[in-house]
Amino acid sequence: MYDLIVIGSGPAGLMGAIAAARGGLRVLVLERMPKVGLKLLATGGGRCNLCNTLPAHAFMEAFGRHGRFMQPALRAMGSEPLRAFFRDRGVETCEEEDKVFPTTGNAASILDVLLKECRKFHVEIRTNSEVTALPKEGGVKTAEGIVPSKAVLLATGGKGYSALGGSSSGYGLALRAGHKIIDPIPADVPLLIQERWVKELTGIALPGVNLRVGLKGFPKAGTNGDLLFTHQGISGPVVLNSSGAIAEKLQTQESVPLVINLAPKLGAWQRDGGNKSIANALRPWLPSALAKTLCELCGIDPELPASKAGGKTEELLTRQITAAHITATGTEGFNKAIVTRGGIDLKGVNPDTLESKLQPGLYLAGEALNLDGPCGGFNLQWAFASGHLAGSSIVEALRET
Ligand SMILES: Cc1cc2nc3c(=O)[nH]c(=O)nc-3n(C[C@H](O)[C@H](O)[C@H](O)COP(=O)(O)OP(=O)(O)OC[C@H]3O[C@@H](n4cnc5c(N)ncnc54)[C@H](O)[C@@H]3O)c2cc1C
Repeated sequence: MYDLIVIGSGPAGLMGAIAAARGGLRVLVLERMPKVGLKLLATGGGRCNLCNTLPAHAFMEAFGRHGRFMQPALRAMGSEPLRAFFRDRGVETCEEEDKVFPTTGNAASILDVLLKECRKFHVEIRTNSEVTALPKEGGVKTAEGIVPSKAVLLATGGKGYSALGGSSSGYGLALRAGHKIIDPIPADVPLLIQERWVKELTGIALPGVNLRVGLKGFPKAGTNGDLLFTHQGISGPVVLNSSGAIAEKLQTQESVPLVINLAPKLGAWQRDGGNKSIANALRPWLPSALAKTLCELCGIDPELPASKAGGKTEELLTRQITAAHITATGTEGFNKAIVTRGGIDLKGVNPDTLESKLQPGLYLAGEALNLDGPCGGFNLQWAFASGHLAGSSIVEALRET
């Protein structure tokens, strides 16, 4: 009989398995995919942005109104102890602004540490093994039958990127155990944009733009970051970080208006441009293909010398650059969603132990819960911290019995 069965071999599941096995428990990890930690390997473009240096209060704030739920987990394993965990096992980390990466530049080195630690503490791992039910009497059900255990940790992740293990399987398990599921929607996901001119700029990247949602209830100041034009719309950090809230709005309305300042540092292009064409005069701030498109949208010849652009022309084009109005009509969906908004309702889970309030002996951790952060090491930090807290809580709970 196992003490603990962990469902899912992502960062939450593996960290939970390690905490429990280090505490002396006999642990089995079940993974439905043929390989372990597939999503972890893809994080940060393969470099794994495992956490960030923000203080706990700012970290929790970035998750919105549910953020405080994470406090006990972050207290148990915040970013410093997390970095120390990997450093003590041979993988140093470094900072890029406030983001933290392994100095190996390779997510595989993070997974290697987790798997070595699992081996050291005799954690058994089975791939191609999907949990299909959580019997009331404990343990889990797979295609091979019921595997008994004293406790179960559900760490099944979100719905995004099905090729990397994303699915709703965990939501179904939690639902049947009596948990409420908040409708999952894609977050940290590229947006589909209605305007054709946007889609004609595929591949153009712009640093430091400002993106604002033109609806009541959204921050008037918008958010800043890099933007990428895609063949269906827009992506890049500034878009991904706002996309969850936009996707939520798109649940109840057909489109969401966006206002983008494409060049917040735009200078006196007309005055300083002299005989240069308008497109060239704008070169310090905008790639020429984008400048030309914006001119065309305003009915302005991009080859006209800047000195000949009269006050009205200058005003019109400047407004088009600094407040371009576009329309989001959807997202690229779960297959491009870095994280899932929604999931297992936090009300059914004790934040101090991560044990289910509805099924004793069932613990829940990671992205499967209704918590989603922006890009930048937020979601992995939560996965690691919550896995660690759940694993440690299980050790405590079983010690008491
Ligand atoms: C492309 C990409 C890049 C990302 N980059 C970053 C980044 O740099 N920094 C960051 O903080 N976050 C990043 N994220 C988000 C981050 O990867 C996730 O939030 C994190 O992996 C969640 O960890 P988890 O352990 O909760 O779930 P997961 O990592 O999703 O692991 C869950 C596992 O459970 C398995 N599973 C599900 N159901 C069952 C079942 N019924 N039976 C058995 N097994 C099951 C799945 O196959 C999966 O392997 C990225 C995500 C993607 C898709």
